[in-house]
Amino acid sequence: MGRVHNFSAGPAVLPVSVLEEAQKELLDYKGVGMSIMEMSHRSQEYEAVQFEAESLLKELLSAPNGYRVLFLGGGAHTQFAAVPLNFLFPDAEADYVITGGWAERAYEEALKLHAVTKLCGKANMASSSKATNFDRIPTRSEIKLSPNPAYVHITSNNTLYGTQWPARPDFGKKTLFADMSSDFLSRPFDLSQFALIYAGAQKNCGPAGVTIVVLREDMIEKANKNIPTMLSYGIHAKNNSRYNTPPVFSIYMVSLVLNWLKNKGGLAAMKKINVEKAGCVYEAIDNSGGFYQGHARKDSRSMMNITFRLPTEELENKFVDEARKSGLVGLKGHRSVGGIRASTYNALPIQACRDLASFMGDFQKNNG
Ligand code: PMP
Repeated sequence: MGRVHNFSAGPAVLPVSVLEEAQKELLDYKGVGMSIMEMSHRSQEYEAVQFEAESLLKELLSAPNGYRVLFLGGGAHTQFAAVPLNFLFPDAEADYVITGGWAERAYEEALKLHAVTKLCGKANMASSSKATNFDRIPTRSEIKLSPNPAYVHITSNNTLYGTQWPARPDFGKKTLFADMSSDFLSRPFDLSQFALIYAGAQKNCGPAGVTIVVLREDMIEKANKNIPTMLSYGIHAKNNSRYNTPPVFSIYMVSLVLNWLKNKGGLAAMKKINVEKAGCVYEAIDNSGGFYQGHARKDSRSMMNITFRLPTEELENKFVDEARKSGLVGLKGHRSVGGIRASTYNALPIQACRDLASFMGDFQKNNG
């Protein structure tokens, strides 16, 4: 079939069974005589798909009552603006924990909205690990929260640097928001601890084009209504994510991935596999006697994006090149860290990680 092991950071690998199902239904979705792509977003058939995606998501998250799921366009980047516009009223403050490039973008978007539009209050940098090129998650004592922030914003997994919050930070009763784009649905977490989370689908739950937002209903009531229509959570919630035409095919793909996840045993089963997968690669790094140097500090290591360097850039290029020839693709690191990045999202089979670890051993033998 010619499928490679795809370590791309996103868009990323999808389960083969999901792609096959989509292929099977592409020309004729459940006997309707057309693809889901060609159907009205108001049709009964499409409505059922979106409803299923929503209820599967709530089930997988063990969502308590009172949470809403939205399927929106515009990527996680749009949420960087929507979050402050909805919740950071002009006289309020919000705290951002800066653990990487995406966290920084979220913070800078809030700063810009404050400076340029006056629609939003002030965003504070509660902590930043930039001085050490975002190699770790700060300890609780390093995070300085303001007395009464509208919300605290974290990025649960830092895709570029390969760090991940090991657990939810203890911020007491503060309203917590998270960008979970790169580790959403990779492990169980207690949704009740978060007032709002968002994630682009293109890593763990589908193709690009749809961003999933899960938020508490009381937040929708509290949200600012005098903001651009397409950025208003109130508008999207009131219209069940169909105020405008939603990315129907992406949402359909998400529904297939969620079914796949459920059949795999849900988030607890997924976590177990993901820990084992990442463990293979980290072990190869740790047993290399320093030939492979992990970027993230051990206590902050991500189970989703594994970043490491080799002794020279020349060797790194050779590594990427030879890996590709062995069917291991998407390993070139992001320029902010350089070196190698192996993304090991849900749909990546464990064999891919085993093959990578074995390739790493061989490469070292031949080049170390
Ligand atoms: N947040 C995180 C954690 C990400 O990994 C990414 C994309 N790599 C983004 C935000 C931006 O997402 P999008 O391209 O969907 O706007």
